[in-house]
Amino acid sequence: MSQYPHLLSPLDLGHVVLPNRVLMGSMHTNLEETGDWNRVAEFYATRARGGVGLMVTGGMAPNREGGVFPGAAGLFTPEDMANHRMVTDRVHDAGGRIAMQILHAGRYAYGPECVSASAVKSPISPFPPKELDAAGIEKQITDIATAAARAREAGYDGVEVMGSEGYFLNQFLVRHVNRRTDDWGGPYENRMRLPVKVMKRVRAAVGQDFIVIFRISLIDLIPDGSTWDEVVTLAKAIEGAGATMLNTGIGWHEARVPTIATSVPRAAFAWLTGRLRPEVGIPVITSNRINTPEVAEGILAEGKADMVSLARPFLADPDFVAKAATGRAAEIAPCIGCNQACLDHTFSGKISTCLVNPRAAHETELVLAPAENPKRIAVVGAGPAGMACAITLAERGHAVKLFEKGAEIGGQLCLARTIPGKEEFHGLTDWFATMLKKTGVSLRLSTEATVRNLGEFDEVVIATGVAPRSPGIEGEALAVSYADLLSGRAEAGPRVAVVGAGGIGFDVAEFLTVSESPTLHPEDWAREWGVGDPAQTPGGLAKPAPSPPTRQVTLLQRKPEKPGRRLGKTTGWIHRAALNAKGVKMLGGVNYERITPEGLHITFGEARENPTLIAAETVVLCAGQESQRSLADSLKAQGIAAHVIGGADIAGELDAKRAIDQGTRLGAML
Ligand code: NAP
Ligand code: SF4
Repeated sequence: MSQYPHLLSPLDLGHVVLPNRVLMGSMHTNLEETGDWNRVAEFYATRARGGVGLMVTGGMAPNREGGVFPGAAGLFTPEDMANHRMVTDRVHDAGGRIAMQILHAGRYAYGPECVSASAVKSPISPFPPKELDAAGIEKQITDIATAAARAREAGYDGVEVMGSEGYFLNQFLVRHVNRRTDDWGGPYENRMRLPVKVMKRVRAAVGQDFIVIFRISLIDLIPDGSTWDEVVTLAKAIEGAGATMLNTGIGWHEARVPTIATSVPRAAFAWLTGRLRPEVGIPVITSNRINTPEVAEGILAEGKADMVSLARPFLADPDFVAKAATGRAAEIAPCIGCNQACLDHTFSGKISTCLVNPRAAHETELVLAPAENPKRIAVVGAGPAGMACAITLAERGHAVKLFEKGAEIGGQLCLARTIPGKEEFHGLTDWFATMLKKTGVSLRLSTEATVRNLGEFDEVVIATGVAPRSPGIEGEALAVSYADLLSGRAEAGPRVAVVGAGGIGFDVAEFLTVSESPTLHPEDWAREWGVGDPAQTPGGLAKPAPSPPTRQVTLLQRKPEKPGRRLGKTTGWIHRAALNAKGVKMLGGVNYERITPEGLHITFGEARENPTLIAAETVVLCAGQESQRSLADSLKAQGIAAHVIGGADIAGELDAKRAIDQGTRLGAML
């Protein structure tokens, strides 16, 4: 019997039977906007081949005013229809099923034409929306129903009507945004009129033999959000209006509670789907931070949902379902919830991809073809760049030897996984270990590669990584490096000054102030962030009650700007809020004068004013990195050509995303 009997059991929707309980949730990749629909089609067809039960596209605009940004893709012209037809045909040829998400952004639409229930500007958009009049509301309903009918015409198997995450339909539901006094505002029966009417009109437009999913917000996580009674009332009304399934959404985009970041416990919100399920007679789908078949199977086995929605895990590995079904779960490349290459790209106008899988959304361009002339290749350094390169080369048929001077693989990933809230990095190093073995890479741990033993290879790849930078502060010998601290070679006292407020400085401050990772204790995590129960407080917002910090930490940088400003676009605010909750003092615009047993002596600004002692037993240096290139330089001096990748190539702003991408791309070329 399969290891995942619930996950892999079919789901009968009446007119169609889905082969398993896995939905690929909607993700906006920005691919449609490139105009390269062959690439869009290949993105979805690759995932259809991987066996997912049903996919949902990125959000498609029902009209110009509802698009997430000006020019957002939709189904407006005959050319659009032909493009979408390419996608649906390719998915069907691959044996898959696909539904189109209809996303009306309302006041989240990034443009001056945006519309909503009332003229209440969102804190995450510069554009105040126009309040719709009755005719305007009618037009939006018609446009959404028309989009659904066109989706059917374009060959989709269904649509998902986006009613959560604080988008247009969700905006009508809550008093926080809906201040109307007509038939569309006031009591809940009026506020829910729009989503219910939309659902009725969509069903009427597409007929009975077509999947219509409604995505409902179970916990808004904003002030004055929906109560649990209102959620249940809406769910029943949406069922009555003809929905095939309910997908669940968690938190509005403007909520100040993380809902999908890596520090959110796995399946943290599935309990809400479990509570909704007995209230309705149609299947319910649960979502958010489900990234392994074990977690998904557990949710289904406990009866909390009929189906699980995974989105980013399908960027990390399109073959998630096929691998789970064939006893190869350990080979599933894990989504670590970092957002670095997916959502951070989406919101920067770049094409989404995946830190773990650079081929995601680049399927037509980054192709791994079998090597024409298999070679003997040495890769030096088993950090993310070296491992990604070695695995890619071996997959293509080269004979690869991977030298690692340390006793274990992982490089900087081994440090990252010690940070509270970054436990997913354990899964990533485990996956690399599995894939090195599976692809037949010959791994030599505790083995230092030398110029002499590299001479026998056809190609040499240097991925020797980085070493912490010594910032040259007077008395620096009294300080410890972040690498020594995180690897347990050094300990910290009760008061700590952290030099450098980049990604690592923030991580170290988290490490120093937290004893037990709340990510591993969902109830503690909910308390830290103020996630309550919508049955008790509207929107499910409670007062955050963070546990006290384990140390007194000051985080410093020289740049005269707010520390943390350059952290990840979609996650930086979470890191800043987490440290604020632990009372971490953050200082910018400082000069480091000297380190003494009393602590760190600083001054401020170009004039070196206001001399101050940051009293600390420990000073931790997180002042960036320098490339470790001595082996590359020695090879060059001997006339041996080598490819230098990862931190050994460029240390500045190196992260695992760039390292894995560079390693994979070189691995695809040699
Ligand atoms: P970083 O982001 O470049 O930060 C280095 C810090 O050191 C800066 O705050 C810089 O600030 C300071 N610094 C640089 N030179 C210095 C000097 N000579 N003396 C004193 N301070 C100096 O690098 P990182 O924190 O080491 O992180 C490395 C990479 O890993 C980055 O690309 C980062 O994005 C990535 N990372 C990402 C995450 C994540 O969660 N996504 C987490 C950890 C690391 P001033 O120059 O203003 O003093
Ligand atoms: Fe997951 Fe990070 Fe990949 Fe996004 S970039 S899919 S969060 S691993």
